[in-house]
Amino acid sequence: MGEYSLEVETAIQAAIKASTLCEKIRMDLAGGDSYLKSDRSPVTIADYGSQAIICKTIRDRFPRDTIVAEEDSEELRRPGRSKILERVTDYVIPFIPNSSPEEVCSWIDFGSNSVTDRFWALDPIDGTKGFLRGDQYAIALALIEKGSVKLGILACPNLYPDIHHPLGEKGCLFLALRGNGSFQMDRKGANKRPIYVSKTKTPSEAMITESVEPDHADHLTHQRLAQKLNISKPPLKMDSQAKYGILARGEVTLYLRVPSTAEPGYKEKIWDHAAGSIIAEEAGGRVTDVLGRPLDFSTGIRMEKNQGILVSNGILHKVVLKALEM
Ligand code: AMP
Ligand code: MG
Repeated sequence: MGEYSLEVETAIQAAIKASTLCEKIRMDLAGGDSYLKSDRSPVTIADYGSQAIICKTIRDRFPRDTIVAEEDSEELRRPGRSKILERVTDYVIPFIPNSSPEEVCSWIDFGSNSVTDRFWALDPIDGTKGFLRGDQYAIALALIEKGSVKLGILACPNLYPDIHHPLGEKGCLFLALRGNGSFQMDRKGANKRPIYVSKTKTPSEAMITESVEPDHADHLTHQRLAQKLNISKPPLKMDSQAKYGILARGEVTLYLRVPSTAEPGYKEKIWDHAAGSIIAEEAGGRVTDVLGRPLDFSTGIRMEKNQGILVSNGILHKVVLKALEM
């Protein structure tokens, strides 16, 4: 992978460690009998732990790089949260021996809000609701240079390598480097293979994916679009950027994210799309907003110049944009 091989290797190592930590926490805490739906502590612990590990791993190799990430340690440092901080630290120690609670907080705080010429965008757990439900979630990390995504890695610890054959071990890692294609690996980073979007040319044969959460997109408009294009297959609902992964490997044709009517002015966050978008594009897909504009990752933590998201296999992009003009 030439020029960016150190970035690629570091991002893969960071994502593997973080996804192992997240799965351990999910097995220990989220799956047990004592688990209450209202208790968000498993996802809180995993979120902080994942961010600490990834930020530390990146900073060790690239001390001058900025990391734009979702969490900071302010909440975690409050006296009432000391139990949570202790648990986060206990989960981080197997990956970074002898970590102290103070160090864990300082690694989390490598994350900032400043979008610079070259920065990493991190979502330590994308799809927190999926994580708690035992469905899909992802660890999403991207390198952005001058507003354009250069490298993306998506760890999907609970995703089978092939959704049509849910066999073997769960866990996928998706990787894309600009100009070098998209790849899927297993959860340990082995068995790397190139992936490609579907070649579906006929709109009615398309398969749509959308959020599970009804507040994150306008599912009624998605349904109307499907009717207009004579798409008969029901949409595949999935949490997190795993949607980009299944599109990139050809299992679905379209990922729709029309802004929800509950929050029509919602601006998408960069870490929710940076890694996923390059993985779809490098697999041959196309990614724009719902008005056909390219995604602009240079406007801060939110994509101020975009509205909603449309991802396709490329071939069907124009037809869908046209149909969205309803
Ligand atoms: P998904 O799993 O695809 O539903 O996306 C999860 C992401 O949706 C979270 O990381 C949030 O940042 C984001 N989100 C939260 N509220 C909204 C909203 N109103 N519209 C779109 N995305 C949202
Ligand atoms: Mg997210």
